[in-house]
Amino acid sequence: MCYCNPTSTISFIKAVEYGVYEGEILPIDPNFKNKMKVVDQHQGHDVWGPTDPPKKLGVHGTNVSVDWDVCQGDGICLSVCPVQLYDWADSPGHPTSEKKSDPAREKDCIQCLACEVNCPVQAIKITTK
Ligand code: SF4
Repeated sequence: MCYCNPTSTISFIKAVEYGVYEGEILPIDPNFKNKMKVVDQHQGHDVWGPTDPPKKLGVHGTNVSVDWDVCQGDGICLSVCPVQLYDWADSPGHPTSEKKSDPAREKDCIQCLACEVNCPVQAIKITTK
């Protein structure tokens, strides 16, 4: 008798695909630009995918990059950014949070790294020049 559960297998594969496994959320991949491609534009910045809304949202921004599949919407980056670069964006139906920090003005970044260092789930990668 087979005790395998195809539904669980599919869930596991989806969880890995979405960067979530057994409740653990993986940090943003610092090499995402080598593995993903620009699939969309949002508020003047690139969106890196693949994406599959509302469950898989990809990475927003190229130099100030927020992995929306990692972001839990705690808003620390909005609080610590000295140039008010981030805005809130709604993400209804996403498994980690229903709002995301959006690098709406990434060209204003002064590369202080405050957001990257303080993000509790390591959802942010700043590309320094
Ligand atoms: S590195 Fe500093 S200036 Fe740039 S987005 Fe993060 S907190 Fe704002």
